[in-house]
Amino acid sequence: MVKVNENFLEVKQSYLFSEIAKRIDEYKKKNPDADIIKLGIGDVTLPIVPKVIEAMHKALDEMGKKETFRGYGPEQGYDFLREKIAEFDYKRKGIDIDISEIFVSDGAKCDTGNIVDILGTDNVVAITDPVYPVYLDTNIMAGRKKIVYMKSTKENNFVPEIPKERVDIIYICMPNNPTGTTLKKDELKKFVDYAIENKSLILFDSAYEAFIVDEDVPHSIYEIEGAKKVAIEFRSFSKTAGFTGVRCAYAVVPKELCAYTKEGKEVALNPLWNRRQCTKFNGVPYVTQRGAEAVYTEEGQKQIKENIKYYQRNARIIKEGLKKAGYEVYGGDNAPYVWLKVPDGLTSWEFFDKLLEEKKVVGTPGVGFGDAGEGYFRLTAFGSYENTVKAIERICGTSL
Ligand code: PLP
Repeated sequence: MVKVNENFLEVKQSYLFSEIAKRIDEYKKKNPDADIIKLGIGDVTLPIVPKVIEAMHKALDEMGKKETFRGYGPEQGYDFLREKIAEFDYKRKGIDIDISEIFVSDGAKCDTGNIVDILGTDNVVAITDPVYPVYLDTNIMAGRKKIVYMKSTKENNFVPEIPKERVDIIYICMPNNPTGTTLKKDELKKFVDYAIENKSLILFDSAYEAFIVDEDVPHSIYEIEGAKKVAIEFRSFSKTAGFTGVRCAYAVVPKELCAYTKEGKEVALNPLWNRRQCTKFNGVPYVTQRGAEAVYTEEGQKQIKENIKYYQRNARIIKEGLKKAGYEVYGGDNAPYVWLKVPDGLTSWEFFDKLLEEKKVVGTPGVGFGDAGEGYFRLTAFGSYENTVKAIERICGTSL
């Protein structure tokens, strides 16, 4: 008799996006002509920039010629891309990361999910509430039972408190999905200091790093002294360069970062992650990596920054519009998400229905990201400018 991995039975069904789709469908059946604006799902809408497309075309042509064809690439990613990452994302910002510490992958979702493979099942895991659901679900799937929640609400200014009990693994997503809020350097330093003192590990997801504008918000956890001893950083080209459909990201696993055996013996995580990737992953396509490389050219940088500016303008329109209309709003300054407090004591699903029925605008109910998200609502800045303006005009009942 084949046995199922019963850990999977412990994972809560995620009804969030299917429930959203169901409610939209029902509404559409009753109102077939309704012009619904969707600011719910966190996917980009602008096309990939010309410099990246040009590089990918060129790489594709290389694949069609005998002399330049490439088969399996290195599991860790091609050096041409790892060198650009090390130089542009770290060295130029005063952080020394060697290319052997960079692992190119097909997504930060896979990386933040797969990283649990190299960590013991009896670790105590701290995650924020609300949270990007991947962190929680992948730990449950791996059989980890000891999960501690760090509330992140307006009451603590979205700066989660370090749990009173000892924790071994701490997930930090910054800029945050779903709240769109950030941590300042001194706030992040407290987590790093805690991890150093307690021999804990920080899993730092900075998929939205490109949206940071404030000087005192760190772009990398390695800006904090000692972080290379205790943190893995995850980055992605998805939101930075519109790669959500192309798939390219990377994880940084510093050489000096260790975890421990039950007997307390140090084990370096870099070779372990390398072993995991070489065993279960066969690398990101060459064409994709050439595209990601082009992100770091002068023109590529200029072009992706224009796209990011476009989304940042949307975020401002959402935040300022709602504020003017009297809503309590958070996030959106250093992130493509605006997190609003649901008014009049409604639940986040009641607000979803009200917004859909009265304004024909779709967002994401905060409770879908965890219990502490109840009473909040997420709007994304990844829509078109025109739709963003239209949606905010409808919600606020005035023209912008
Ligand atoms: N991390 C966070 C916090 C996200 O919100 C997302 C996507 O929405 C991802 C990672 C996924 O990134 P990728 O497209 O690189 O898998």
